[in-house]
Amino acid sequence: MTIDCDCGFVAEGDTDTELVARAQAHARDAHGIELSAALILQRVGRRPGPRSGLR
Ligand SMILES: [Zn+2]
Repeated sequence: MTIDCDCGFVAEGDTDTELVARAQAHARDAHGIELSAALILQRVGRRPGPRSGLR
């Protein structure tokens, strides 16, 4: 499964745990924010839209 960040980064993981860890690491490194696991999992498989909270 994958999750797209609004910046164009795509995090991939075989499990929810792996995906969340990668997305959190990216958000921290690239954007300086902490994402909750719940928020990340909400976005799994969705394309970022204009109402998305991520930059
Ligand atoms: Zn990003």
